[in-house]
Amino acid sequence: MSVRLVFLGPPGAGKGTQAQLLASQYGVEQLATGDILRRNVREGTELGREAKRYMDAGDLVPDAVIIGMVESELAGSTGFIVDGFPRTIAQAQAFDALLARLEAPLTAVLLFEVPREQLIERLTGRWICPKDQSSYHLTFNPPRNAGKCDVCGTGLVQRSDDTLETVTRRMAVYDEQTAPLIAYYRKQGNLISIHAERPVVDVTAEILTALSERQGAGA
Ligand code: ADP
Ligand code: AMP
Repeated sequence: MSVRLVFLGPPGAGKGTQAQLLASQYGVEQLATGDILRRNVREGTELGREAKRYMDAGDLVPDAVIIGMVESELAGSTGFIVDGFPRTIAQAQAFDALLARLEAPLTAVLLFEVPREQLIERLTGRWICPKDQSSYHLTFNPPRNAGKCDVCGTGLVQRSDDTLETVTRRMAVYDEQTAPLIAYYRKQGNLISIHAERPVVDVTAEILTALSERQGAGA
């Protein structure tokens, strides 16, 4: 079953964790704009150099840069999970135009809902694999071997923007620029709310049930 999903929600809501699990389950690609940007920063590309100052400050990278990046990543794709995109109304409008050109309507937009204090705890305890971007947490979602990625064994690192100061800024940016997308997608009839404060396996189960109900209903 091919799906085209957007994972929407604040930083730390578990979008990347669920996108990685579900992309392999559905056999579709995972497109995480933050991961692509971090790869470019690491490789020192022109895009990475331009994006870095925004990312370090917890601000959004300009829309034109992001939209161009997503258009080239999704060319020819029939199924995907996008996570961390769109983050502004301008990005959502450009994405709608792209999907119309591809004749590929969204299956659904999943809204990951988590209380704010839990988000801060999740982000400040997050460790990621710099190679495949898997995301772990010291207490909520620990790797099988301490400090090592379950998938590829690479040593885990903390993101430089997961400090309390930058996390606080990222939450404010979410409230101002990304939260308006909730009303945008609700109006399109595409929004499904997920209780993302629950443990990882429960969130996965809730998403699978919600999507099979939606597809069963012929939506
Ligand atoms: P996002 O992609 O939305 O920013 P992540 O998927 O990277 O969020 O998750 C943020 C942090 O929370 C990570 O440390 C991750 O291991 C942890 N996490 C993810 N899902 C859950 C969950 N359901 N319960 C507790 N912690 C979680
Ligand atoms: P994330 O990995 O989704 O938490 O994103 C990390 C950082 O990358 C954000 O704080 C932004 O600076 C930047 N970024 C990722 N996705 C986008 C996007 N869709 N629009 C603008 N900036 C983005």
